[in-house]
Amino acid sequence: MSEDCVFCRIVRHEVPAAVIYEDDDFIAFLDINPACEGQSLVIPKKHYEYAFDMNDHNYEKLLVTAKHVAKLLDKALKPKRTCLVIEGFDVPHVHVKLYPVKEGFLKLYPTKKATKEELEKLSDKIRGFL
Ligand SMILES: [Zn+2]
Repeated sequence: MSEDCVFCRIVRHEVPAAVIYEDDDFIAFLDINPACEGQSLVIPKKHYEYAFDMNDHNYEKLLVTAKHVAKLLDKALKPKRTCLVIEGFDVPHVHVKLYPVKEGFLKLYPTKKATKEELEKLSDKIRGFL
């Protein structure tokens, strides 16, 4: 845990997030700056800065959890395909980005800031498929 890391603060529920999935080791929530509707982040609860520093077991669990969340997005939002990206240049806490792409090609850059109301409504809808 890192005191001032925003993702660690989301894990501790100190910062509100539109959570769509949570278990003992991972949490998934909607991105507040989505490039497409339903763009989500899957993060380990433990603070790792770099994905390839995770041990194999935890790295595999992260990807399996991301698959589980992607299938949830597929069911709830019916995209053409959900894309997975790990780049991690913004917040230094490992995160998998999931992009449910409905039309055209994957755009990695946000087009607008989502409102709290939009995120709450959408996370309620997605959690309905858990
Ligand atoms: Zn962190």
